[in-house]
Amino acid sequence: MLKKTITEALEPLATLFFPPHCAHCKTRLEAGMDFCSDCEALIERIKAPRCESCSQPYDCLTGEFTCPNCRGEAFYFECAVAVVRSRSVIRDLIHRIKYGKEIWLARVLAQIAAEGLEDSRLVDEEFDALVPVPLHPKRLREREYNQAAVIAENLSRRTAIPVLSALERRRYTTTQTALDRKNRRQNLRNAFSVVKNADVTNKNLLLVDDVLTTGSTLDACAAVLLERGASSVRALTVARG
Ligand SMILES: [Zn+2]
Ligand SMILES: [Zn+2]
Repeated sequence: MLKKTITEALEPLATLFFPPHCAHCKTRLEAGMDFCSDCEALIERIKAPRCESCSQPYDCLTGEFTCPNCRGEAFYFECAVAVVRSRSVIRDLIHRIKYGKEIWLARVLAQIAAEGLEDSRLVDEEFDALVPVPLHPKRLREREYNQAAVIAENLSRRTAIPVLSALERRRYTTTQTALDRKNRRQNLRNAFSVVKNADVTNKNLLLVDDVLTTGSTLDACAAVLLERGASSVRALTVARG
């Protein structure tokens, strides 16, 4: 905790002594920029047409669209907004914040996530709290911080919406990516719970995570929050796989 606080306190000082560089390729930049123009051009923003529910983009401009990700699914969240595709530059940044202990990237990723608050599905909502998707304590010890939580803290500073760490991960889900859809859901059932004393009753909540893949993690989180009396749950992620 102390370590994180010190890192955050030193951030403005670091910018002063170390001029800004592209978060991806390290090219020297003007102040106030996170990416050089080459890297910026590689960031794919998710725009309409896309699935209203899970943000899956699609090409077809006319006619009926059935989302291949959501077909036959009823999610507990109202919608999951993802801002960019998890490819090239973005995939690299997310990998570095997760496995490279580059906590400073939370600011860059939160800046991107903040664009999602302007999405038509979120812009008119009033959120009582940002709820980060939790890590299992074992992973938290390995990584030293939860990337979803530090992104949520950065978003909170921009929006004044408080962070409510209402969830905990009880089960260690190791082989999640190797499982198919049905087994993923099964594996995630009971993996999350609402922490003791966290009051989510009648609250409009915004789940925050780094990446959405199928939406099943966000769905499992939304289910337990609604079960404990939250009035609505929406989700915002930086990227979509
Ligand atoms: Zn660059
Ligand atoms: Zn969908």
